[in-house]
Amino acid sequence: MSESSPAKTMHFIREIIAEDRRSGKYDGKVVTRFPPEPNGYLHIGHAKAICLDFGMAMENGATCHLRMDDTNPVKEDIEYTQAIQEDVRWLGFDWGEHFFYASDYFDTMYELACTLIRDGNAYVCALTAEQWKEYRGTPTEPGRESPCRNRPPEESLALFERMRKGEIPDGELVLRAKIDMASPNLHMRDPVLYRILHAAHPHTGDKWCIYPMYDFAHPIEDAIEQVTHSLCTLEFEVHRPLYDWVIAACKIFPSRQIEFARLSLTYTVMSKRKLLELVQGRYVNGWDDPRMPTLSGMRRRGIPPAAIREFCERIGVTKYDSLTDVALLEHCVRDELNHSAQRVMAVLEPLRLVIENPEDLPAAVFGPVNPENPEAGEREIPFEAELFIERGDFEEVPPPKYFRLSPGASVRLRYAGFFTCTRFDKEADGRVSAVYGRFTPMTEKVKVKATIHWVPATAAKPVEVRLYDRLFSVPEPDGDKEVDFKTYLNPDSLKTVTAMAESSLLEALPGDVFQFERLGYFAADPDSMPGAPVFNRTVTLKDSWKVS
Ligand code: ATP
Ligand code: MG
Repeated sequence: MSESSPAKTMHFIREIIAEDRRSGKYDGKVVTRFPPEPNGYLHIGHAKAICLDFGMAMENGATCHLRMDDTNPVKEDIEYTQAIQEDVRWLGFDWGEHFFYASDYFDTMYELACTLIRDGNAYVCALTAEQWKEYRGTPTEPGRESPCRNRPPEESLALFERMRKGEIPDGELVLRAKIDMASPNLHMRDPVLYRILHAAHPHTGDKWCIYPMYDFAHPIEDAIEQVTHSLCTLEFEVHRPLYDWVIAACKIFPSRQIEFARLSLTYTVMSKRKLLELVQGRYVNGWDDPRMPTLSGMRRRGIPPAAIREFCERIGVTKYDSLTDVALLEHCVRDELNHSAQRVMAVLEPLRLVIENPEDLPAAVFGPVNPENPEAGEREIPFEAELFIERGDFEEVPPPKYFRLSPGASVRLRYAGFFTCTRFDKEADGRVSAVYGRFTPMTEKVKVKATIHWVPATAAKPVEVRLYDRLFSVPEPDGDKEVDFKTYLNPDSLKTVTAMAESSLLEALPGDVFQFERLGYFAADPDSMPGAPVFNRTVTLKDSWKVS
């Protein structure tokens, strides 16, 4: 990570773990886990959780488990399971031997459910979905007890067994915990522990037709793996009493659930449901579209994993939901790429520049491969009497404070010398087609206020460049529940151009990231063919992050 990395700051989870180690709780051991549901690709919000779960383990010389929380068979898929592993590894974390499926614990969960029934802590309930709502009560009124609540344990056990055997249709019976229908916490009002779902599971196949609910399954998963600190996002805070109830009633390993604020980013939607909608509706080109906030999209865009880790460290860990400016992420990306990316010149919108004194020209000029890293050496760039410059670097009638080219004006041509514009050509439609002028070598002094980039007209090669912008045009695309977030899709989030670039770019391999001087960072896309690279704009050079 870059030298500007702040020292790791203290936060409440670091403090809790440090205190537990000091006091010898869990015999001083630390085990964490990252438990994604394999129903979508991981996004930058998950990266926050991953950096925290794996980070806390690594800092404490401990292990972090990667667990597929696959208790819901319907939305889950093997494709996601594989992508999740690839993304966590890419982010820089290693679970070693500790890869698990929650569904591998279904037998234990079933056994524990039977124990709860025997102990009078759970019962099979026949209320319909309609009745269920009615009996549940509201936050201000207590609920009512189900007529099934005092069913003898043997009867519940027999029914539960029939549920398991597939003798009961979906939705007809559920297993409920017997807790407190008058609890102010709705999650404690005899919550459902198991439901019937006649659906094949990607991992366990047809073995089960009853599936445990998250609140019952999660503490058991954590207990089986002896997770000490079970970190999750704030919305689970109200579920914690139930998490603790399951531990006490099942007499299992007492993991501690600790909640932290989820990451929300400006100009971004983060929920997997919405991201799936963008993919299925073809608003983007797949989960790994470079505009997606998914880790696979960010990888394809050229964002280095170190920048994401740095970002996650900088945003910190709190108990309060807030909105993080995406400019901070972009800042971390620039910071990282500034150190690692090779420099090249490329012109996105070429305009011909003709030097009218070709006798004074150097055959080639030299530029640093990376000014941040002198050891990387220099590159040679052929120089010619005809160049391409950026169309925007010439103005027929320069506006105030415009210091680049215009008739009579001089600029520095990066690494080469000076150029003074004497005249230009125009098409019938008024479009400028070429600018002409005189070249002055670097050894002479010409006063200029701007440096522009260029490429040699014949030695430069065409490359496809995909100019990505933010996917949404407003800071909070899902801020208004009344408006479909897709209304705010940015129609200009992708523009494709053919740029002219230094010929070395033709050798770029997918994943290589370059700084196109003055323009930004660009990553070679997997769509690249040998000799025909395609580049994604990772980020522009202009940093809008305000250091506070
Ligand atoms: P989504 O809300 O996007 O559908 P999820 O919470 O359903 O995500 P899971 O696969 O269940 O996704 O998440 C795995 C872990 O990642 C959980 O511990 C969850 O709390 C955490 N996580 C998910 N989204 C965020 C986020 N935006 N910020 C921080 N952690 C998150
Ligand atoms: Mg979830």
